[in-house]
Amino acid sequence: MKKLIFIAWPSDPFNYRSVQRLIIITVLWVGFILQAVAAETLSSGVLAKGTQWETAFYRRDSGVAGPVVLVTGGIHGNEPAGARAADQIRHWPLKKGRLIVVPRANIPGLKAGTRYMPGESKLLHNLNRNFPMTDGELAAKGVLATTLWEFVESSEPDWLIDLHEGIDFHQINSESVGSSIIDVKGEAAESVVPRMLQVVNAEISDPKKKLVRLRYPVNGSLARAAHERLQAVSMILETTSKDQPMSTRTRQHRLMMHTLLGQLGMIDGPAHLLLPADKSELRIAVYDAGGVGKRGPRNLDRVFSKTKSLMRRVGVADIRDGVLGQFDLVIFPGGSGSKQAAALEEEGREVVKQFVEAGGGYMGICAGAFLAASNYSWSLGISNHKTFCETIDVSGIGRKSMWFRGGSAPVTMELTDEGRTILGDFDGIFEVRYQNGPIMSPMDRQGLGNFRSLAHFRSEVSKYKPQEGTMINTPAVIVGEYGDGRVLCISPHPESTDALNRLVQNAVRWTARRR
Ligand SMILES: [Zn+2]
Repeated sequence: MKKLIFIAWPSDPFNYRSVQRLIIITVLWVGFILQAVAAETLSSGVLAKGTQWETAFYRRDSGVAGPVVLVTGGIHGNEPAGARAADQIRHWPLKKGRLIVVPRANIPGLKAGTRYMPGESKLLHNLNRNFPMTDGELAAKGVLATTLWEFVESSEPDWLIDLHEGIDFHQINSESVGSSIIDVKGEAAESVVPRMLQVVNAEISDPKKKLVRLRYPVNGSLARAAHERLQAVSMILETTSKDQPMSTRTRQHRLMMHTLLGQLGMIDGPAHLLLPADKSELRIAVYDAGGVGKRGPRNLDRVFSKTKSLMRRVGVADIRDGVLGQFDLVIFPGGSGSKQAAALEEEGREVVKQFVEAGGGYMGICAGAFLAASNYSWSLGISNHKTFCETIDVSGIGRKSMWFRGGSAPVTMELTDEGRTILGDFDGIFEVRYQNGPIMSPMDRQGLGNFRSLAHFRSEVSKYKPQEGTMINTPAVIVGEYGDGRVLCISPHPESTDALNRLVQNAVRWTARRR
């Protein structure tokens, strides 16, 4: 038996002082046949260090000769799916070549949600016009483009892929380049782009929303400069932000990148690996697809932005593909429980139940607490509660469904002793936003343990007479178990209130069995 250890260091002279750490992963090959033996090397660092444009890069070197692919995301700050996808792709193990990723190129823009670089003049504010132009100067313009360009040049990429988003589908509105691949001419692009389009379009049912091929990256763009100055095969991948959840858009970027890297023989793992192999950090999946309002996932991003955790948006296709297995828990945020159930379909609901049964955590907020309930034909039945949802004849008004209590309104709630143990020391009665969350009571279903209350409402809102008195003192937060998994349901919206961030963080950690 022969044991070989091969450590590959970054091969080119790399004089960025900013290389912060170099993680050496050694792979041991044990066997009789001597084969190509390699160790993957991960390194990372910071570009534009000490300026407001500081941004991280990540290099993954397979140790086996092969293409150098450089991926950028977040060049435009209002195109977050590219940045999120790049931050997932950088965790894909490589068979050969090198993958270099700058996931969040324009961090001030991403934070502000703006296309342009905040605070820059009109001449300089579009980062993707600041790279060396056709027949123009050799240098890039401005601190960030100059730093990125020097980094790209020194990386000597064979391929450069820049992940973007358009505001509309190109086939529906030709003013936008949304849902397209904008590549350079040449045989190499020809050999991969049609297949990338085929794979990503296979999941898009509306023909007008399918991605199309466009030529040629705009003058001043990183993709064009990398092609013209460095002879890289480059392309801009564009998803569309309009009417599509983040999970769909990041998935499309992943599908295209996975196809490309697969065609280049660099990977053979799954397209929907969203997280690093190291499981030390809390791993949170947030469902953001059918039946979810925009506000919930955004609020959860904010609640966890300063914590040590990895949060990813997931959609129905991701769930069906088994991505939940990568996570400690899944959160179903506000919106409509019945619409979430309909979007998941029988198959997706079954996958969620199996995930919880096997020990995964489930947290339902408002709609997600309806979805977990046991009293609907469409609900998951993973929590032993029913909701007050009868349809009642209201005199002078007509037949009304009792779940609806009007718009968003503040109510008060109070934690139980167990509530303070799990959710934190929030003493007395405090305010929380409420918007038609479930009024929860025991369902007494056989074979499913009873829920425990962590908090009660201490005030109520009502729209119709029969609702009066039915909400006050009922459970606002409940917990239970389904199989090996913990299920925590919250009727109101504590994630909307900064003062309750800690309560939501504690709820998630407990449900994830991280406390
Ligand atoms: Zn863009």
